[in-house]
Amino acid sequence: MTSINSELIIDGKILRKNISYIKEKLKDKSKFMAVIKSDAYGHHLENVVKDIDDLADGYGVVRLNEAKKIRNLSDKKILLMQGIYSKDELLEAKELNLDMVVHNSDQFQILKDNNFYNNLWLKINTGMNRLGFEIKEFLEIYDEHLHDKKFTLMTHLAASNDKDSLSNKNQFKLFDDLSKKMNKDVDLSIANTGCVMNFPEYTYDWVRCGIGIYGGYFKDQEIKTAMTLRSPIVNIRQIKKGERVGYDGRAEAQDNMSIATVYLGYADGLPLKIKDGTRVMINNQIAEVFGRVSMDLTTIDISNIENCSIGDWCEFFSEDLPMSNIAISNDLISYYFMTGVKSRVKKVYKRTD
Ligand SMILES: *Cc1c(COP(=O)(O)O)cnc(C)c1O
Repeated sequence: MTSINSELIIDGKILRKNISYIKEKLKDKSKFMAVIKSDAYGHHLENVVKDIDDLADGYGVVRLNEAKKIRNLSDKKILLMQGIYSKDELLEAKELNLDMVVHNSDQFQILKDNNFYNNLWLKINTGMNRLGFEIKEFLEIYDEHLHDKKFTLMTHLAASNDKDSLSNKNQFKLFDDLSKKMNKDVDLSIANTGCVMNFPEYTYDWVRCGIGIYGGYFKDQEIKTAMTLRSPIVNIRQIKKGERVGYDGRAEAQDNMSIATVYLGYADGLPLKIKDGTRVMINNQIAEVFGRVSMDLTTIDISNIENCSIGDWCEFFSEDLPMSNIAISNDLISYYFMTGVKSRVKKVYKRTD
């Protein structure tokens, strides 16, 4: 039996194109870490690794179980971006030959207790105030334990998308001043996607790119959305001026209208707060959400769509309808849509050939 379903189609070719494009911005010595935490931002970890392994110098993840899956597929560097939280995790990380972030003194204590100083990435807080050593605290550890060791010094920007934000300048300055105190074997890493695009002079030894690979970076049209979320129309009806659609009657018809109902709701990962007027695409024409998203259904104004029938696809984002559209017009971010599609939506991964 085949049943209808909404589909999330992921295109490996677009991932590869996006990476190649971003890599053109890097300085020669900079290596490219593909950040594939959270199931490659919802794109399917293993398929993504198989598709991009020749383009990446390493991978960034948060969970050990993700690192394990990658290690079965690739010999490249794998960074645990939050490091380890127990001795057991350390042992497993060693077994898998992982690099690991150290972001606070509790983590450093575990490493010290086990006399383990290999493949470390020391994370410094330069203003994000989430993870990372304070500079003074780090320098004490450096002088005592790390002054003769090879490691990577890293920090993370809070506002890399905003070229004019003062916080970037402050973070770069703190990081640069600190890096000058390091021994010559210390590598440097600060850049996520936004930093590579806006501040290519700061790509240093490693860049850590996530959102750009997947096409959620919205300030450069060359970077394309690699996933398509589409849902079949299951009903079409005509309504009269003054009638309302959906829960709470949120949307009121200002004229006679055609309304399509599609097979995708908030239980599939479409956020409840999607606004009326959000653009979708049906048969290569733009239509708009009309009425509140339900658990299993969403209603679309198709009054201006030509030749539209039950069974046609409604696309919420795709290569031709950038994810940033739906994200920005609903005060959300692409990261949230990518990682939010639920498991009951059928996933189709198109491998590169
Ligand atoms: C998620 C993450 C990145 C990737 O950031 P993008 O904005 O997706 O490129 C880089 N570094 C760290 C530490 C991260 O947690």
